[in-house]
Amino acid sequence: MSLWADIISVFLPPRCIKCGTILSQDDGLCPDCFNEINFISAPYCQKCGQPFEAAPSSSKMLCVSCLQKVKTPFRLSRSAVHYDDSSKPLLLSFKFHDRTDNAKTLAKWLNLAGQDIWKEGVDLIVPIPLHYTRLMKRRYNQSGLLAAELGKMTGLPVDYTAVARHKKTRPQVEFSGHERIKNVKGVFSVKHPEKIKGKRIVLIDDVMTTGSTLKECALAMLSAGAKSVDALTVARVCK
Ligand SMILES: [Zn+2]
Ligand SMILES: [Zn+2]
Repeated sequence: MSLWADIISVFLPPRCIKCGTILSQDDGLCPDCFNEINFISAPYCQKCGQPFEAAPSSSKMLCVSCLQKVKTPFRLSRSAVHYDDSSKPLLLSFKFHDRTDNAKTLAKWLNLAGQDIWKEGVDLIVPIPLHYTRLMKRRYNQSGLLAAELGKMTGLPVDYTAVARHKKTRPQVEFSGHERIKNVKGVFSVKHPEKIKGKRIVLIDDVMTTGSTLKECALAMLSAGAKSVDALTVARVCK
């Protein structure tokens, strides 16, 4: 640690990003809060990352829809934690209440959850873009912050401008199921196809609920010539 970092840690010691307890090391969460988080661990579907309650009988380790080859724009999809009462406060404060300091810890989780994706090979990290009016209001894109931290950890380039969200939509939480697909239909456009053409892209977001937003963005990039798209999110609503 540099002298400057030593000085900062004396006056601003690292705190648990959930409960605020002072930590001896900058681990993000205190042991109690860490133990409450439900990390997604094996066994899970090797393609879509959906966790299994018990290991499947098939040695392929695929869920029913992946075995049936249900169409998906993602090569692989992974998430670090279950979206539940223990992870929700962390993600909501990160998204809406300026807790941008959470980005580093959450990106560490993304990096770990992305192991299979890194093994397959990735050329570019792309965060899900916000519509500019929402960006002005919130002042930061939570997915962009995660992508920036992940870029530093993996050494992979991050692109913030190739894809844009050109239509303002109602928040997805107001809809369910099929309405969510309709709500985000055609909202993304690729502004700079030359930046993604032939590239293996990993798309970053904070939470995957039904996956409609991520899928729509992936489809836009695939039609613009991306070689493959993976989805990597901090949390996921698991069935
Ligand atoms: Zn804590
Ligand atoms: Zn699957």
